[in-house]
Amino acid sequence: MEGTNRKNSSQEIEKLQNTVNRLWERVPRYREKMARAGVAPSDIRTPGDLRKLPFTTKQDLRDEYPFGLLGCGREELLRVHASSGTTGKMTIVAYTKNDVEAWKDCMADCLAIAGVTPGDTLQVMFGYGLFTGGLGFHYGGEHLGATVIPSGTGFTERQVQLMQDLGSTVIACTPSYAVHLSEVLASKRDDSESPGHSLKVAILGAEPWTEALRQTVQAGLGIPALDIYGLSEVMGPGVAIECPCQDGLHLNGNHFIAEIIDPLTGEPLPDGEEGELVITTLTKEALPLARYRTRDLTRIIPGKCACGRDGTRIARIRGRSDDMLIIKGVNVFPTQVEAALGRVEGLSMNYALEVSESNYVKDLAVMVESSSGLGELEMERLEKEALRALHEALGLRVAVKVLLPGSLERFEGKAKRVRVASGV
Ligand SMILES: [Zn+2]
Repeated sequence: MEGTNRKNSSQEIEKLQNTVNRLWERVPRYREKMARAGVAPSDIRTPGDLRKLPFTTKQDLRDEYPFGLLGCGREELLRVHASSGTTGKMTIVAYTKNDVEAWKDCMADCLAIAGVTPGDTLQVMFGYGLFTGGLGFHYGGEHLGATVIPSGTGFTERQVQLMQDLGSTVIACTPSYAVHLSEVLASKRDDSESPGHSLKVAILGAEPWTEALRQTVQAGLGIPALDIYGLSEVMGPGVAIECPCQDGLHLNGNHFIAEIIDPLTGEPLPDGEEGELVITTLTKEALPLARYRTRDLTRIIPGKCACGRDGTRIARIRGRSDDMLIIKGVNVFPTQVEAALGRVEGLSMNYALEVSESNYVKDLAVMVESSSGLGELEMERLEKEALRALHEALGLRVAVKVLLPGSLERFEGKAKRVRVASGV
């Protein structure tokens, strides 16, 4: 076992050195950063030397739009994708032929960890196009040998028809869309014994979600729901995935190194402590990234997974630091709200947050649907319970409104849960 680990770490350091050399030779912006930090490629000799390297940030990608961070010749590019730009200017990510091959391998590995086999039929309900979700799953599924249905986002009636007629066994979509899908399936179910589908697993990602939402999806669809992680800047989906143990996401150590840092000081944190996830790519050619600050908050789970796999495991993402709201001076993540709502029996996982501001102080109102139609008294009782659960979870009082099922907007891609009240 130790021999294997030594071999792995010598391969890892070799790949890391290749990445650093590529950055030094081909990416002027990163070479300048290294020079300012007083570090040269020859200083990277052991895995611990990683922390000598300066960070790469989203701002670097924005400033060098579109191709300023390329680690290869422009003519070597096989494909480009773009990040959604939800938190600012769009950024471009690029892939060589080898990068696309590596991505296919990563995604096929992830699907295999989730229990997908060549005999499965994978319905990809992520967006196809500049967003990496659709094509990432698509090529990974084909590479594994599964039958892929590129149904894309939306058209839920048609999704359900395809799922039933073609016998899909695996779905890939956002967690919020999986909730919507289970509602639509439930509304069509003629006899309560049959689930109305042949699914065996749902692979969900592209937005932070909680254990409470997992329970809702699993109860609604009657199958396990596994979390997959990735971000377009470092590749797309396929960076890490949960195995059926549902005890953290296995990072693909052949292609990535993960660190957790204190987001304020930038200092590395020990395993088990929550902080910002930082990823270094080991094989990327077109967009090699050293110590990319993902702004995603998580921790490295110490110890070994019950499935027996070695390597780094990360906890599910608690949120992106950009998503943090400051309500009456208290830090609030939408996932905390979701977890609290999940503890109240009778509430659904369809919710929205409205932020208002007066005199520079932000306030929060939570709107959530009940899971079934209720009378006024029942609604009031639910509101009180939700208020108590939120107070306990967040440490502050927020307004709560319980709505009838179907009142809130449904999302086909990434859910937009937070809106700013008009007039502020
Ligand atoms: Zn495992």
